[in-house]
Amino acid sequence: MTEEKTSVLVIYTGGTIGMTKDSLTGALVPFDFSNIYEQMPVLKNFDYKIDFHSFETLIDSSNMKPSFWIRLAEIIEDNYEHYDGFVVLHGSDTMAYTASALSFMLENLNKPVIFTGSQLPMGVIRTDGRENFLTSIEIAAAKEESMAIVPEVAIYFENQLMRGNRTTKFNAERFNAFVSGNYPLLADVGVHIRFNKSNILKPNFKKLKVHTRLDFNVTILKLFPGISENIVKNTLAIPGLKALILETFGSGNAPTDEWFIGCLEEAIKGGLIIYNVTQCKSGSVELGKYATSLGLERIGVIGGFDITTESALSKLMYLIGEGYPKDRMIELLQIPIRGEMTVE
Ligand code: ASP
Repeated sequence: MTEEKTSVLVIYTGGTIGMTKDSLTGALVPFDFSNIYEQMPVLKNFDYKIDFHSFETLIDSSNMKPSFWIRLAEIIEDNYEHYDGFVVLHGSDTMAYTASALSFMLENLNKPVIFTGSQLPMGVIRTDGRENFLTSIEIAAAKEESMAIVPEVAIYFENQLMRGNRTTKFNAERFNAFVSGNYPLLADVGVHIRFNKSNILKPNFKKLKVHTRLDFNVTILKLFPGISENIVKNTLAIPGLKALILETFGSGNAPTDEWFIGCLEEAIKGGLIIYNVTQCKSGSVELGKYATSLGLERIGVIGGFDITTESALSKLMYLIGEGYPKDRMIELLQIPIRGEMTVE
């Protein structure tokens, strides 16, 4: 009996990676993946079955919407049994948000979902897209003892494989566009792909469960010196608001003004969830470490430890959408459910 070839489904959503120069006009137009093997004959050297699925409407990821996350999760669900791994080609601008969201939406994921993109279009000579694309396929296909080596949602960019829900886009120009400030790399890529297996989630062999009931009544308030009562009050008064991510200073600190703490306290008493996430790209919220976070702790602001804003946003959308009771949700916001935070 011949063993079946390892198979990878490449899902193309848009972004710079999929652009190429039109031979007539010289303008950037979406790359035609239907004849990818002619444009990139090197793909034939992989001993894998590689199929392509293109979104009907290709988008710059700044136009990404949760409805696209849902579409993406459904495409993965529909094809889950037919492929060993998935590569998602996505614009880099909001890739960290989509990768975070998918990590929550795909419960019991036991196969790789590798997001990649590029800073220069595929059709440009010095593109970083070609290497990102080929290595992502190799990572999505990588197995050991018939099991996927990376059974989680990850981002591969410029020689680094990172847990998706730990990433943030931090550079608009350099090829290494992403940082995973609070979690080590899942793999380092040079001549060899060196997987850091102890950092990678272990498969749980349970059936994939796809969650698409997201609640969008969540917003973000970034603190800055001089933030006014008007801004804070009006944000808290948004009709239907269920959760607010408070982007705080340093280890979770905020102004101690009476009006400020008073407004938040009233909103929490009214049922709003306030989730404290640091503005720093690395390090953790430690409520009560400084006097400037004691007040927040006292009124019931929930500490997000070292979660990223991108991850906090989709975790809240997911938990609220799933309709967890408030107490359980508060517990889940303070523990990792997809490897998105470190609690010490
Ligand atoms: N604006 C583009 C996008 O996010 C940039 C990129 O692809 O990296 O779709």
